[in-house]
Amino acid sequence: MDRTVLDCIGETPLIRLKKASEMTGCEILGKAEFLNPGQSVKDRAGLFIIRDAEEKGLIQPGGLIVEGTAGNTGIGLTVVAKALGYRTVIVIPDTQSQEKKDALRLLGAELLEVPAVPYKNPNNYVKVSGRLAEKLARETNKGAIWANQFDNIANRDGHIRTTAQEIWRQTDGKVDGFVAAVGTGGTLAGTAMGLKEHNPQIKSALADPGGAALYSYYTEGELKSEGTSITEGIGQGRITANLEGFTPDFTYRIPDEEALPIVFDLVQEEGLCLGGSSGINIAGAIRLAKDLGPGHTIVTILCDYGTRYQSKLFNPDFLRSKELPVPEWMERQPEIDI
Ligand code: PMP
Repeated sequence: MDRTVLDCIGETPLIRLKKASEMTGCEILGKAEFLNPGQSVKDRAGLFIIRDAEEKGLIQPGGLIVEGTAGNTGIGLTVVAKALGYRTVIVIPDTQSQEKKDALRLLGAELLEVPAVPYKNPNNYVKVSGRLAEKLARETNKGAIWANQFDNIANRDGHIRTTAQEIWRQTDGKVDGFVAAVGTGGTLAGTAMGLKEHNPQIKSALADPGGAALYSYYTEGELKSEGTSITEGIGQGRITANLEGFTPDFTYRIPDEEALPIVFDLVQEEGLCLGGSSGINIAGAIRLAKDLGPGHTIVTILCDYGTRYQSKLFNPDFLRSKELPVPEWMERQPEIDI
């Protein structure tokens, strides 16, 4: 028995989403990425980015992995780094959930919180992490790499080689559509490309949250952001290297008002406690099911677990502060007297 934590990354099950399937007449299946050791879809990118750097001889034991991340990639990289004897330095925008920052500190990442500013600002977290990696590389002889998840296609390759192959096998090749939101684009582009190698008829769909600019890019040819979203880890404003050469067959803009009730229903009715991006994905899967018609099988990603956002998504005060509806059960008092 010589399995390590790294062998527990991937091979996640597909879960049938009951209500979404019943309301559309399709089979809507969610890939349970929250079951990865770092509890999100980003463990796959962490593993493939680090393995790629090793194969290129860029890093030796004790070396540093530097990354700018909304949290989950930092967690994935840190799980993999610890298992292989590397250290991580993680740059995170201060707007991200406290739970993700706590998890990063707990796992032993060195955490640098920076103000959340747009990508074009030189102090944006991605750019800070790139400069920091260059500086640290000059100061260590063990190697320091910038994971660079947005423009490092080892991220997308991980999904071509694992996520897509697993979905193909798990559905016996009977998958008709794949839907996901985009942070880096690795999950959507990689999984869709890998599935289309098996069957070019499989449809891909982007579920874009408010505040992202990809919806307008794929529908009108212009990067224009509109609206806002409380979801974390998704919502891209540019064509990353992971998105290059990929165009979704369908593109949907999903408001939080459509996605969050799905997340809240799943906790109460199906025992699935998910983060906000999973709600955007499932809403996208429902839209694709309506466009394709009944009888199809559609797969999406259950990106991470809801406890990662307990202080925001599952907090009535936070929801009210964002003028979002609070589900009645969230504030209900216990009814059973003992
Ligand atoms: N959901 C969550 C919660 C994430 O953290 C991320 C990655 N930032 C995504 C979805 C999107 O994945 P990708 O980077 O592969 O586009």
